[in-house]
Amino acid sequence: MSKGPETYIDRSRQLRDEDTFCFSCRPDRSCFTACCYDLNLLLMPYDILRIKNRLGMKSGDFIKQYTNIYVGQGSGLPVISLKMDKFHFNCPFLEKGKGCKIYEDRPGACRTYPLVRMALRSRDREGVEEFYYIIKEPGCEGFENGKRWTVREWIDSQGIAPYNEMNDIFGELLQAKTELGIPYLNADQINTFYLGCYDIDAFRQYFLEGPCLERCMESEDLIERVSQDEVALLKYGMRWVKKKLFQVD
Ligand code: SF4
Ligand code: SF4
Repeated sequence: MSKGPETYIDRSRQLRDEDTFCFSCRPDRSCFTACCYDLNLLLMPYDILRIKNRLGMKSGDFIKQYTNIYVGQGSGLPVISLKMDKFHFNCPFLEKGKGCKIYEDRPGACRTYPLVRMALRSRDREGVEEFYYIIKEPGCEGFENGKRWTVREWIDSQGIAPYNEMNDIFGELLQAKTELGIPYLNADQINTFYLGCYDIDAFRQYFLEGPCLERCMESEDLIERVSQDEVALLKYGMRWVKKKLFQVD
């Protein structure tokens, strides 16, 4: 979540589980919902899954109606960001005077604020090394007279763990591309990436309902699991992209 140059990230402190910070976001703050305007809010695959289900929409329709999609200059990969209102610049899920309409399914970045997660990967190590920085949006009063939290308490209270787990699987895919030194994908590869990572309902149709050779090569157990569990399907979709585009399991 970023509003550009005025957003401040304190890189002087790397916070881990038991480190503390003070913060309270409450409706009686004069800044209430000010942080939901004029954002460059990138959506991760799991954010899209949660929000499209919250809205009762197909993933493709949600992406078309609520987001901008483009190829990232640095990554060369499709990137999806939430479209702000074109007149008032507010997030489309902001309900004036009330707050977030999709609060229980709000994106990971909104949950994690005022922290931002750094996940470091290395070839020599399994999993990720994670820590957090404090990030401050302009005008945010949440740091004044805030409650003291450990990082772990904040993560638990905001339901961030499943977002981190899914973002780490997505991160493995991005890392595979970086390690192979591939600068850009061609149009077919971009479509594959989009299908497996972002458009989960179209991926279900392709993989589970169509005449898909790749499905025949998977075990019955796996097919059963991904048929019944959309999160498992998304995990499979991201790993399918990694294997298909970068030949990495
Ligand atoms: S600006 Fe900060 S304190 Fe105010 S509503 Fe947003 S997160 Fe909460
Ligand atoms: S999703 Fe909710 S919390 Fe996040 S910016 Fe939009 S209204 Fe604010």
